[in-house]
Amino acid sequence: MAKKFVRAIFPGSFDPITNGHLDVISRGMKLFDELIIAVGKSPIKNQLFTPEERVEMIEENIRQRKMQGVSVESFDGLTVEYARNKKADVILRGLRSLTDVQYEFQLAMTNRAVAGIETIFIMTSEQYGFTSSTLIREVASLGGDLSNLIPKNVQQRLQQRFKSRIPGETGG
Ligand code: ADP
Repeated sequence: MAKKFVRAIFPGSFDPITNGHLDVISRGMKLFDELIIAVGKSPIKNQLFTPEERVEMIEENIRQRKMQGVSVESFDGLTVEYARNKKADVILRGLRSLTDVQYEFQLAMTNRAVAGIETIFIMTSEQYGFTSSTLIREVASLGGDLSNLIPKNVQQRLQQRFKSRIPGETGG
């Protein structure tokens, strides 16, 4: 029997992409024929980078790492709608901790109930278990060294974004 072609989407805010996300992507690309990283244009979240900037940073990493079968784009609206338009077979999500499980479980159940789409989870490497985009934004705004947790191009963009601010200054 011929093997089925499996297309997955990896949706998220990616504001900005971290080594934790990249770890999930490099594991995911071995499991699926095609993996589309889908940058959500969520209007609710407090965003540091525009969707275009977030896509650009991810694109640079895909190119540099020569990731086969991986692409990136942004999307509006419901993830399940986007998944349907893309004819995706599964949604990929990453797990860091038990706290993630509770929220992700609910999300996956909802997506399956409303759209019949399955979610596949990949657990991160131990060293990225505590890495989140929110923390990265906070530490970067205070001038902290994040070289182990984010790719080089993200580090440079964060430095540019915060360079006008003096460490210790809270802004406002
Ligand atoms: P969202 O706002 O949709 O949670 P994120 O960009 O924060 O978007 O995360 C996208 C996905 O990547 C989520 O499934 C999240 O749990 C996962 N993720 C985020 N950080 C990590 C990490 N360090 N290791 C593994 N998975 C992660």
